[in-house]
Amino acid sequence: MDFQVSEKMQIILGMIDEFVEKELIPLEKDFLADNMDKLLPELAKKQDMVRQMELWAPLHPKEFGGMELTLVESALMFEALGRCPLGLYTFGCQAPDAGNIEILHKYATDGQREKYLHPLVEGKIRSCFSMTEVEMPGSNPVMLETTAEKDGDDYVINGHKWYTSSADGSAFAIVMAVTNPGAQPHKQASMIIVPTDTPGFNLVRNIPVMGHAGSGYFSHAEILYQNCRVPQDNLLGPEGHGFVIAQERLGPGRIHHCMRWIGICNRAFDLMCARARDRIAAPGKKLASRQIIQAWIAESAAEIQAARLMVLHAAWRIDNEGSKAARKDISLIKFVVANTLQRVLDRALQVYGGLGMTDDTIIAFFFRHERAARIYDGADEVHKVSVARQIMKGYENKVVR
Ligand SMILES: Cc1cc2nc3c(=O)[nH]c(=O)nc-3n(C[C@H](O)[C@H](O)[C@H](O)COP(=O)(O)OP(=O)(O)OC[C@H]3O[C@@H](n4cnc5c(N)ncnc54)[C@H](O)[C@@H]3O)c2cc1C
Repeated sequence: MDFQVSEKMQIILGMIDEFVEKELIPLEKDFLADNMDKLLPELAKKQDMVRQMELWAPLHPKEFGGMELTLVESALMFEALGRCPLGLYTFGCQAPDAGNIEILHKYATDGQREKYLHPLVEGKIRSCFSMTEVEMPGSNPVMLETTAEKDGDDYVINGHKWYTSSADGSAFAIVMAVTNPGAQPHKQASMIIVPTDTPGFNLVRNIPVMGHAGSGYFSHAEILYQNCRVPQDNLLGPEGHGFVIAQERLGPGRIHHCMRWIGICNRAFDLMCARARDRIAAPGKKLASRQIIQAWIAESAAEIQAARLMVLHAAWRIDNEGSKAARKDISLIKFVVANTLQRVLDRALQVYGGLGMTDDTIIAFFFRHERAARIYDGADEVHKVSVARQIMKGYENKVVR
């Protein structure tokens, strides 16, 4: 097993580190002050700089200007970009667009590629993914109430979704809806492309999350689909294949989420150590001299390193043995890294004391927003059940002495 990347990739990772440090972290003050209107033109300039560096949309095939990275390489890139909340967005590899691009590459018709995929990869439009419903359990996605009924050449969609992240300002949504109610549970739903200006696509509100409704890319919407009519040509992939496609979307996506979280851990760790070094605790004594702070530093270093190696290991397995072979590893990293992230952020915030609760550092933002890491992309508990089941299968006939 070898996580070593090429010299070229090491240079690129160095360039990204420098770009995040010099160009993006200085913008966080405006970002935290909710000055998104002011920030968008500035971010567009930064995106142009990324294009000039030939690092735009790195996850995609070369024909789209991407870099066709291995999963280990892209994981390291996400770690570097994760240090700043603006990182992925500025490099054109942010969720949910990155996942949508992936499935559009695989399943879109020529017409869909022209209309949706190309402008999305170029960063001219944004998109969202609309699966979770208000009234039904997201953890059991076969229980969908949203329907798409055929009427003439169209589908007519009705349903109540929420947590459709980044819907505000998106050009289109990929919607999961039941098209085949009589089929087996996993074959009932399909993915359908719905332009957000279609009558009946009603964005009810950006949901306040931890006290903040956000806007534009940084928001999560509640959406009512009310007799929302789109041509049947907007079906993405075969009818009834919604879950199969959704599974494909989640595999590499989990590696990317987890490595972005490791990037956040690294940032919080650096901030915690710097504060412990500089903050006076008593005359002539800094916080770093206190054993409990030293324990937090040591525990965080150990936990981050362990979590990071687990993610790289899972990425390596997918690269070399495929997603199926790495199924257990993918579930393991999901809950291990999400919890590592929360412990590290909590310690960093505590070391900053009252300052940690303010938006004068980035820690409180990460603390608020990343609590969700244990819920989205499969709640921790769902992954734990899945891991335990897989492990116990191996014990069915195993003799243990
Ligand atoms: C910040 C954020 C962004 C999101 N973005 C999107 C998006 O862009 N598009 C989208 O479609 N969805 C999105 N989601 C929704 C997300 O996928 C769901 O919240 C998630 O799948 C959980 O579903 P639920 O909220 O309905 O919780 P439920 O399914 O009601 O589960 C509630 C809790 O019950 C427990 N639980 C559930 N099942 C089990 C089980 N089998 N065993 C043990 N315990 C269990 C878990 O603790 C779980 O947290 C987002 C969510 C958040 C928080």
